[in-house]
Amino acid sequence: MSEKKPFLTLEQAKEITAVYPTPFHIYDEAGIRATARAVNSAFAWNPGFREYFAVKATPNPYILRILREEGCGADCSSDTELMLSEAVGFAGEEIMFSSNNTTEDEFARANRQGAIINLDDITLIETLEAACGIPETICCRYTPGGDFAIGNEIMDQPKEAKYGMTRAQLTEAYKILKGKGARRFGLHAFLASNTLTNDYYPTLARILFETAVELKKETGADIKFINLSGGIGLACRPEEPDNDIMAIGEGVRRAYEEVLVPAGMGDVTLYAELGRYMLGGNGAIVTRAQHEKHTYKEYIGVDACACNLMRPAMYGAYHHITVLGKENAPCDHVYDVVGSLCENNDKFAIDRAMPQVDRGDLLYIHDTGAHGYSMGYNYNGKLRSAELLLGEDGGIKLIRRAETPKDYFATFDFSEFDIHE
Ligand SMILES: *Cc1c(COP(=O)(O)O)cnc(C)c1O
Repeated sequence: MSEKKPFLTLEQAKEITAVYPTPFHIYDEAGIRATARAVNSAFAWNPGFREYFAVKATPNPYILRILREEGCGADCSSDTELMLSEAVGFAGEEIMFSSNNTTEDEFARANRQGAIINLDDITLIETLEAACGIPETICCRYTPGGDFAIGNEIMDQPKEAKYGMTRAQLTEAYKILKGKGARRFGLHAFLASNTLTNDYYPTLARILFETAVELKKETGADIKFINLSGGIGLACRPEEPDNDIMAIGEGVRRAYEEVLVPAGMGDVTLYAELGRYMLGGNGAIVTRAQHEKHTYKEYIGVDACACNLMRPAMYGAYHHITVLGKENAPCDHVYDVVGSLCENNDKFAIDRAMPQVDRGDLLYIHDTGAHGYSMGYNYNGKLRSAELLLGEDGGIKLIRRAETPKDYFATFDFSEFDIHE
């Protein structure tokens, strides 16, 4: 079972809110390091294994620096993510550029930084060649189409995904790239998101390993690495069992021994591009209950809104909520926990059994460390919150200040208007 235990106590949260007003995102350095070490140890059997953290999940240089110290690389898909990674010190093959619908400018920058380029589509060979020529090391992204199932359970629908090349295009792309001077090949696929089974990575790995063996036979390409990408999820609800990263690493090892080793490909290096698994559980939002409303339902209005965390509104995602200081109180009330947007999907929880919430209570929204702040937006003129880091020493560091109205208005030229804060 996943234990939904905040990494902050009420006392700590009160000390923090005396300095930094709610709402804010906060990340747990010790947790981030422990997760990175667990992932690295689960794949330590594969020499050269590297987790390229998906920068889009938590694009903050202080977070990226911690991950770099733990031996991770950076997975980017835009100009600014490349710039951020460069600023943190990621260089050359410490960067994976896994983008789609990519521009020449983006390819040119990725290539200048020495990143490994992962091609989403066969037509991008032309774009890449025009941008910077074909590098010696190149990766191609595969989609098998259809439904992706583990046993009887359909996990996702690659047939509906905009990403990747078909099986036939993969062979063609490898041949073309080889003809244009590519020497070291990689293979990548991302078939299901936020999975909660130890079988996702092993199942995906087996598909990629078998495909790699075929591709080598068909094209003679020297396949150096296979990128299992992201998709390992988190147990968001208290009753759900957590993924076991050691079992996942072991499952991938078994597929490797059964498929790659007998094919003479026992020197292939494995890469990952995990985002959510690395940071999700190591971040939270702290927000204050500011109103209660009793109409046809019971509402708790908090000072965060969907602009701080879009996932419940966008995906109906469940995020556990702890009322700090009431961890052991009975959940004998049922609430909708809502923000202040003029948008009715702005709800962090719907019909949620919780302890009684009083105005002024601090609510801790779990598992917001990945795809949380980074999916934020400014609808209704709401400002993005601060990001804080709880250091290993227990200290608090402001790693991104909260936006001010000035930030919100920064892209207008106000010379024709008169604005007052
Ligand atoms: C988003 C993304 C990831 C990370 O996904 P998670 O679900 O956070 O693990 C990895 N690789 C690519 C190409 C992505 O687009």
